[in-house]
Amino acid sequence: MSTKRQPQTDEHREVPAHAAGVVTIDLARIAANWRALADLVRPAECAAVVKADAYGLGAARVIPVLAAAGCRTFFVATFDEAILARGLAPSARILVLDGVLPRAEKAMRAAGVVPVLSSLAEAERWAQLSSSRDESLACALHVDTGLNRLGLPASEVRALAANSHLLDRLDVLLVMSHLACADDPQSLKNAQQRDVFEGLAPLLPSAPRSLAASDGLMLGAAYHYDLVRPGYALYGGQAFRGGAAPVAPAVTLHVKIAQIRDVAPSHTVGYSATWSPNKASRIAVIAAGYADGLFRHLSRATGGEGGFVAIRGQLAPIVGRVSMDLITVDVTDIEGPPPQPGDLVEVIGPSITIESLGAAGGTIGYEVLTSLGRRFHRRYLNEAV
Ligand SMILES: *Cc1c(COP(=O)(O)O)cnc(C)c1O
Repeated sequence: MSTKRQPQTDEHREVPAHAAGVVTIDLARIAANWRALADLVRPAECAAVVKADAYGLGAARVIPVLAAAGCRTFFVATFDEAILARGLAPSARILVLDGVLPRAEKAMRAAGVVPVLSSLAEAERWAQLSSSRDESLACALHVDTGLNRLGLPASEVRALAANSHLLDRLDVLLVMSHLACADDPQSLKNAQQRDVFEGLAPLLPSAPRSLAASDGLMLGAAYHYDLVRPGYALYGGQAFRGGAAPVAPAVTLHVKIAQIRDVAPSHTVGYSATWSPNKASRIAVIAAGYADGLFRHLSRATGGEGGFVAIRGQLAPIVGRVSMDLITVDVTDIEGPPPQPGDLVEVIGPSITIESLGAAGGTIGYEVLTSLGRRFHRRYLNEAV
């Protein structure tokens, strides 16, 4: 075996020596994912959901790239996110999914962003800003079709439809709803919600309609209406259970080995001594923990289930408890050059998808992305696309 070690990956070369780990975000891939979804749903418009800092990947980097790719409509959750998006995509429409909070109406209008209104009371508050009958305020209307989260219930849709004084003061840019079970194409709830939407939307002012997010758009053209609102799929997420979306992974996470140690069978590893090896074992101590989004649920007790990292495509089990800043991994059976301090191991990448990491952590890929640690070095590929 040569003593001269080759870098394991491209990441290895470009990570600062002091960085414990690196999140690599491929901006060209995110743009390509958006284009693929836009192609799939045409002639419907493809918007982009960039709430929660573009699902943890960095709205400041993601939004300009999507705007350059041709995205004209962005959805965020909160007012602060809308202000950021407004500056990053000056000619795009910015819609705020959580709507407008009491006493925030003036600031929202001044910012030139559009609330998605979800109740009659909220519509009244927004309309009160209009000073004259000639002035109507831009908004989207969210009607509830069965999720029972946000959205006007049917009774409020009817009350709004009958209130021409209120409607005169609203410039409705979009009528939308949100599906509860779109990841499951077998769910009867999808068609039920679609039927409710078909019944309620025509009561409201004529405007473009939207029902589908990442999974809903995979249910077929009947769910596309005029505009789709993918978030997760733009970032490479595959949550739909009826087949693969035409998108590819855009994120990898590699973390460095801080230390290698040998552990004998009578010994235990980590807090609460939950794991011990059944043979002399080599443990790699990895420089990231639950404070970095490696959920504590990834821990593995002796004989139990837990998460993995990957080394040159070989899975290495996380053993013992995940702690705040460190995880311990059994590398005894890794073939090839022995892992060493400073080597990067894959936490998300070709061997471990965000979905598999989420499943091992008792959660979903969405939470993996939005939990990605702020301590990691962030590397953006292909900024200029
Ligand atoms: C978050 C959200 C989306 C995007 O959902 P994905 O599953 O990430 O595509 C779309 N619409 C609404 C109302 C949302 O809250």
